[in-house]
Amino acid sequence: MNIVTIVGARPQFIKAAAVSRAVQRARLQGCDISEQLLHTGQHYDYNMSGLFFSQLGIPAPAWNLGCRNNDTQMTQKIASVLQEVRPDLVIVYGDTFSTLAGARAAVGLDIPVAHVEAGLRSFNDAMPEEYNRIQTDRISRYLFCPTHTAVENLRNEGREEGVYLTGDVMYDATLMFTPDVERQQQILHELGICSGHFALATIHRADTAEDPEKLHGIFMALSQLGREVILPLHPHTARTVSSHAELTGLLADSGNIRVIEPVGYQEMLVLEKHAFLILTDSGGVQKEAYFQRTPCITLREETEWTETVTAGWNRLAGTDTQRILAATAAPFHTKDISDYGTGSAADIIIQHLISA
Ligand code: UDP
Repeated sequence: MNIVTIVGARPQFIKAAAVSRAVQRARLQGCDISEQLLHTGQHYDYNMSGLFFSQLGIPAPAWNLGCRNNDTQMTQKIASVLQEVRPDLVIVYGDTFSTLAGARAAVGLDIPVAHVEAGLRSFNDAMPEEYNRIQTDRISRYLFCPTHTAVENLRNEGREEGVYLTGDVMYDATLMFTPDVERQQQILHELGICSGHFALATIHRADTAEDPEKLHGIFMALSQLGREVILPLHPHTARTVSSHAELTGLLADSGNIRVIEPVGYQEMLVLEKHAFLILTDSGGVQKEAYFQRTPCITLREETEWTETVTAGWNRLAGTDTQRILAATAAPFHTKDISDYGTGSAADIIIQHLISA
């Protein structure tokens, strides 16, 4: 089986790293399976892309199409590659423009698509991610779901065929790439922070990152946390900040918010593990907060990862300063979540594909 895996954005490199290793394991066991990576170019800064390939040992992409965000030609360019290669299967991940463009290009050429992280829903139709994931699910042959809720969402939409509950490949990745204790201490030392004495914040969703008012609400809350806040700033958000003097000023004058460049995955896992609190609008970071057993405040009105909220690890607080501060104040009563599997979601996915 020849697979072309389509990636383009940071979280996809991480998910693909886990699945690529499962492909290599299957090959070593004698399976006739191979994989080539196609990078759409959606994320292109070194610390949003190249760093992940080197740090996670992901095979270099066979193609890099150089398409930027939502390039209208992305589907066409992917199709040209697929037409030449004619793989047996295309794998896409998550909910970005690259996900949907990859799925559409493959389906247009009658190449079956496997969607990893299928069935997630925010039920917020204003989010481009919601559109991308729904459309991708509709046209994919194999829907690999990370949680029971995702399976349930698909069932409610009338889809049962080709749906598999696999666990979460991001949990696989977390187990695979969390550095040992010595390296954790080294990373904390390099960043000049002490375990348990800082909060970690990330903001990148278009809905927030492009809205100075929402960013203002969040930054005000961060500045009133009374503890150091590490903020690895996504380039998308950085663009809005640098074009709004009051936001630049708020961050500079806060005295407790430390803005840093986006960090590598291993550094991020260490920050998540040692923070006393995480505040984020990222889907991946919400889950990783749980994987590292750090309480999380989600800076949105809804989440696709509802089990994190039900289990008490995650609170939805939106972008209003007082709501965020109130959410941080109450103690977290938590319980374990069984949904995400045991760290072998990628192997389960590859076994399903081999035996399909
Ligand atoms: N991440 C990272 N460095 C950073 C910020 C995030 O490695 O500076 C990782 C994070 O650990 C998670 C993934 O990027 O695995 C989440 O990506 P993102 O927040 O961009 O997207 P989402 O998960 O919301 O789709």
